[in-house]
Amino acid sequence: MKMENTNCVVCQKPKANLDCGICREHVCKKCAQFLDEDSFSFMKVVPAIVKHTVYCGPCYDQNVAPVLAKYEADIEKAKTISIFMTSDSKITSRFSRKEKAIEIKDCPDREEVLLRLGFLAVEAGYNALVDVEINHEKVKPGGKYQYTKWSGKGVPTQVTSSRFL
Ligand SMILES: [Zn+2]
Ligand SMILES: [Zn+2]
Repeated sequence: MKMENTNCVVCQKPKANLDCGICREHVCKKCAQFLDEDSFSFMKVVPAIVKHTVYCGPCYDQNVAPVLAKYEADIEKAKTISIFMTSDSKITSRFSRKEKAIEIKDCPDREEVLLRLGFLAVEAGYNALVDVEINHEKVKPGGKYQYTKWSGKGVPTQVTSSRFL
């Protein structure tokens, strides 16, 4: 029987017992890069290449780092996106509404709903959301602790007039 080479692909030390999700090479705990399963939870569709939990250094740098950098930049943009509520309809009546409304459910608070809506708008290339509606309901699963579940929707749009940004 042939002994399998289990040297770490990065530092070459033996008995590396993790596998890189992309190249499948062995990698030791010290050299591995770990990624949480919910690292990209704001994305509408998470690319398969960033769905692994263990990477060797080179695969991480080449495949995960750029996606993570863009993701973090998009979250920062999402924080500054212009939000117009349904009650702002006087201001927004002439805004374009070509996109379908996007919806977010099951968030722990209002801020997260807005941030997730904003992120999806940014991902789709927009800088604002109109007709935004935020809702919440109290839930009491099995008569135990009561908590509030937040949801919301809005239409992504591009606002060009600096008066509104
Ligand atoms: Zn190593
Ligand atoms: Zn690798």
